[in-house]
Order: sequence, then C-alpha cells, then structure tokens
Amino acid sequence: MKQNKNGTWVSWNENLKHNYKTMYSITKEEELQEVIANSEKIRFFGSKQSSADIATGSDAIINMTTYNKIVSYDYTKKTITVQSGLLLSDLLEAIESVGWCIPCLPDINTITIGGALATGTHGTSGKLLSEYMSECNLILADGSLKTITEDDEDLINAVRVSLGMLGVMSTITFQCEPIYTLHVKEKPESDSEWLPKIKSRLKEHDFLRILWLPHTNKGYVITGDKIDANTEVIENKGPKYLKHRRNASKILYKYSHKFPWITAIANKILAKAFFSSKKEHKGSLYQATVTKSRGSTLELAEWTIGLDKFPQVFEEIKSEINKWSNKSFIHIPMDVRFVYKDKSWLSYAYGQDTVTMGCVSRNAATADTYEAFKSVEKIFLKHGGRPHWGKRFAAKDAKLSKVYPKWENFKELRNQLDPTNKFLNPYLTELVNAKALVYENA
Ligand SMILES: Cc1cc2nc3c(=O)[nH]c(=O)nc-3n(C[C@H](O)[C@H](O)[C@H](O)COP(=O)(O)OP(=O)(O)OC[C@H]3O[C@@H](n4cnc5c(N)ncnc54)[C@H](O)[C@@H]3O)c2cc1C
Repeated sequence: MKQNKNGTWVSWNENLKHNYKTMYSITKEEELQEVIANSEKIRFFGSKQSSADIATGSDAIINMTTYNKIVSYDYTKKTITVQSGLLLSDLLEAIESVGWCIPCLPDINTITIGGALATGTHGTSGKLLSEYMSECNLILADGSLKTITEDDEDLINAVRVSLGMLGVMSTITFQCEPIYTLHVKEKPESDSEWLPKIKSRLKEHDFLRILWLPHTNKGYVITGDKIDANTEVIENKGPKYLKHRRNASKILYKYSHKFPWITAIANKILAKAFFSSKKEHKGSLYQATVTKSRGSTLELAEWTIGLDKFPQVFEEIKSEINKWSNKSFIHIPMDVRFVYKDKSWLSYAYGQDTVTMGCVSRNAATADTYEAFKSVEKIFLKHGGRPHWGKRFAAKDAKLSKVYPKWENFKELRNQLDPTNKFLNPYLTELVNAKALVYENA
C-alpha cells in the first residue's frame, strides 16, 4: 500500500483544502481494514467532486480511487460486484458490454461508485443510484467487515446513503437491467407550457429532464422514450457551436460576482444562442444523456422537494430571483429532475416522489458571494425541502431533523457503529451535532 506524507488534499474545484499527515492509497480490502483499525480518525475520498466538505479533514485519509477493480459478474442474476473506488464510467462501460444497464444515471461519469452512493447521487425518471445496490461489504470503525444485504432491510436502507459515516463501503454489488435504447428529443418551452405538464410527461416518457433557464421565462425540455434499437431516428444534434456553451457561459459570467445583474443579460444571450434549437438523437441512457467531459469546474447546490409542492416552490423561487433589489441572479441552467420514492433513510426521495433542482455557479472561486445559494436554500427549507449531500448547503442537524423523518434513527445507528466518532471530520461533526449526542449518551 502506497503512503504519502504531509501533503495538502485539494478538491476538484479547489474550494476545499485540507492538510493531511498520511494519505494511504489502497488496493485491497485487507489494507482498508488495517488502515481503519489502526487510525484514530479517518476519512476517505473518491474523485473529490463534492462541494460539501465531507471527504477529508482528518490527519489520516484514504484515497479510494486506487481500489478500482471489477470483482465479478453473475450472469444469471444480472449483477456486477466492484470495488468502491471504480469510476462510474468504467462500471457503465463494463455493464453495457454485456448488455446491461443501470436505469437511472447522473449527468457525470468521472465520480467513484463509493462517492456517488455515499452522497445519494441520482439521475432522473428513476431512483437514486444507491437503490440499485443489492449488497455491499462495509468496513466498520473497528476494522471488521460486515456484509449488508437486502435481507436486513433497515440496515441496508441506512447504509445506502450514509456519507461514509457508518463505515467505508468496500465492495458493492449492483442489480442491473437489460440495456435499452432511448429516443431523445430536446426543445425550448416557456415556463407556462412545461410546468403544468410535468406529471403527464412523467407518465408518458421514460426520461424527463428540464434545464430551466432563470431570468428568461423558459426551460429546455429533454424527453426520452424507449425504442427498438433498430428504429431509425434522423439525428439532429443542432448547430456545431453548441459544444462551446460551457465556455461561453464562463466568459459571460466572468464579472457576475461583482455585478450580479449581468447574469440576467447573459442568460438571455445564452438561452437564444444555446437553448433555442430542437435536437433529436438515440442511444443508450449512458451514451445519450450523460455528459462525458467538461471544460471547466463549477460550484453546485441542489435542493429537492415533493412532486406536489414543486410548482409552488418554483413560482416562489422565480419571483424571488427576478427581484432586482436582491442579488440572487442564477447562472444557467437550473437542472430539474425527478426521483421516485424510496425507503433509504437519508435519501431525498424517502417516502415521496421528488423533484430535484440544481443551482450552479460557473465561477467556483467566488461561490461564497453567490447570493442565489442562500435564497434557494431558504425557500426550499421553508417548504420542507432536502439538500443534496454532496453539494453546497448551510443547514445542520436541527433543520435536517425536520426534513428527514429518519434523521434521529440515523444518528442513533451512527453513534452505535462509530462510538468514538472515528469517521467524523469537523463538517460532519457539526452536521450530525455529534458532540451533543455523545454527551447525552455518556
Ligand atoms: C460536474 C458535476 C456534476 C454532478 N452531477 C450530479 C448528478 O447528475 N446527480 C447527482 O446526484 N450528483 C451529481 N454531482 C454530485 C456528485 O455525484 C457527488 O458529489 C459525488 O459524491 C462525487 O463523487 P466523488 O467520487 O467525487 O466523491 P468524493 O467527493 O470524493 O466523496 C464524496 C463522499 O463520499 C464518501 N466516500 C467516498 N468513497 C466512499 C466509500 N467507498 N464508502 C463510503 N463513503 C465513501 C467520501 O468520504 C465523501 O463523504 C455532480 C458533481 C459535479 C461536480
């Protein structure tokens, strides 16, 4: 096992930095167990693409990206077992090559499986990625290994989304489905058109995503329908210059932290240039809908709300950010997606069909001054919204306990499994108010 001494860990967009004393790069399950058993405090990281400060911040840290092998396939059950540091891109290529898929994917493929599951990473028109996990080996705080299966419903539902606070996921088994082809259509629509059609479109289509374009009264609607792989689709990927959207946004938003109102003008230009053409193509869910490369970094927040409450929250956000008296101008796009209800304790979709709404700052370095993150959080929290664990939010224990019905159960289990708080960094300690919890139980 490789060890690096006394370095600085830096997140993907350089907004988070932590000094460490030892960084272990592990390749075997036994090494993972040994390092955890012998460390007083330990955190672990994947591709470092979370905006929340949840990955490192302890003297000893584990680089999981070197723990990245495919362990086995079960062709009868259509399952694949992988080490948790494997990149999502590698997992998806492996399962596509044997004719399988995971039917709901995030719009990013450079993340690790462990990082994706731990933070409740999701796509649209399906369930969180972690819901497709049928089994995992979890390394507990004392270094012992516990195999978690669907037979222990409570435990697997606690572990599926757990920010690495219950243990480190070692190997993970995914239940896959047969691969299918999607016919994807994309077009602009005014807010008054797409908003009332959400529920009917969710029934009609196998894939629905809306890139909302703040300050323009428009959204860009992406639908997908399953078709026979041989069905002919006349491909229309729109003008060639569309691929420059992210770079053009970066340039137009360059001074928007100093003069936030520039955003409203930039959005109108971007909407006209990059979101006014219709597009049409076909491919697997992975090939047709997941972004494979990004030219620049960014900073993200994302909030989620029950499907029935979304129209009201949407109108409130729209009216708030369109007030020129405040500075909550929002960069394009706000990504609106749909997740079906599940039973995972810290899932955004626990107990309810859910809408997720992203909020992006294209300028990661000035994200602290981006007022929109605060305004969006305030409105979502007011309506009982839940934050994406891997992205930026300020809410802590007291507020989270009101929106996650299983929050206190999670904290209790965490306290049992990790009584010395080995897996907590300062951010996570505050998130679960761990000091108070330990004090109460003492
Ligand atoms: C450009 C971009 C696009 C994104 N798109 C989406 C999207 O479409 N949908 C969505 O839901 N999210 C999305 N995200 C968020 C992203 O999926 C999460 O932040 C994810 O956690 C990043 O994975 P990572 O490998 O970088 O994990 P890291 O950021 O390195 O770690 C995240 C957390 O996982 C823990 N962890 C890592 N490995 C393990 C393990 N083996 N066991 C237990 N815990 C572990 C870490 O300790 C940390 O707490 C996006 C982020 C970016 C930057």
